[in-house]
Amino acid sequence: MASESSTLPRPRKRFGQHFLHDAAMIRRIVEAIDAQMDEVLCEIGPGQGALTDRLVETGTTLHLVEIDRDLVPVLRQRYAQHPQVTVHERDVLSVNLGELSSDQPLVMVGNLPYNISSVLLIHLLAQRDHISRMLFMLQKEVAQRLVASPGASQYGRLSVMVGRVYHSRLLFDVGPGAFTPPPKVQSSVVALQPHPEPLGPPVSDAAFETLVRQAFSQRRKTLRNTLKETCSEALIKQAGIDPTARPQTVAPEAYARLVTRLTG
Ligand code: SAM
Repeated sequence: MASESSTLPRPRKRFGQHFLHDAAMIRRIVEAIDAQMDEVLCEIGPGQGALTDRLVETGTTLHLVEIDRDLVPVLRQRYAQHPQVTVHERDVLSVNLGELSSDQPLVMVGNLPYNISSVLLIHLLAQRDHISRMLFMLQKEVAQRLVASPGASQYGRLSVMVGRVYHSRLLFDVGPGAFTPPPKVQSSVVALQPHPEPLGPPVSDAAFETLVRQAFSQRRKTLRNTLKETCSEALIKQAGIDPTARPQTVAPEAYARLVTRLTG
């Protein structure tokens, strides 16, 4: 898999293309993925194959989802001799993961395009039945939101939405110099492992998302004020939440309890 950089298209900003070139960092990320032979991997945005080359060496079944139609033929050619690799020319936001692997949940990996990472994480939540675990490179600020606890300044809507379903661990940071072109921000690698069950009582994803979106629509206001059109102060109390609390101090399971009070 020799380098063919002279024939590769230029990095595209609109696809968030910052390609990894730091061999030590690539090795570190692939080691953190720790792919097992009996797992099925799905790499989001393989790009020019920086991570993919190393993942292919593990022999694991690998689905590659790449939106850039100029990179797809390069990838197809590069991995033509590896029948365990399938390249999908798709926007990952429109992929139903069940189409890729109906019988085995996928390990989702990738150096994500930062411009869509939050939307993508929410998209993947809805498909969690097809996912066993995830490991992503993200903008550090997004990674910090994923690992933030209630009350922390980084704790927000994404922390609640993802935190109900996954336990996130920040593994290590990656500086801009590891990429071509270098991004303007710091990056971090994060592992997401599903909780045995989503935190709190079982609730519909749609109802949970609606309530959390509403709660965070005015971060500085108390829940009593922000949610006054939706529920009474008494109902908030019944869910075990202080009505004068701000949204960024409330744990995912408490939001789930409030949803059951509203819909029950
Ligand atoms: N994995 C490569 C690496 O580490 O060098 C590339 C990472 S680059 C940050 C993000 C990759 O995601 C690019 O290849 C880009 O074309 C691809 N991408 C961007 N938006 C996408 C989307 N909606 N669906 C699938 N791939 C996408």
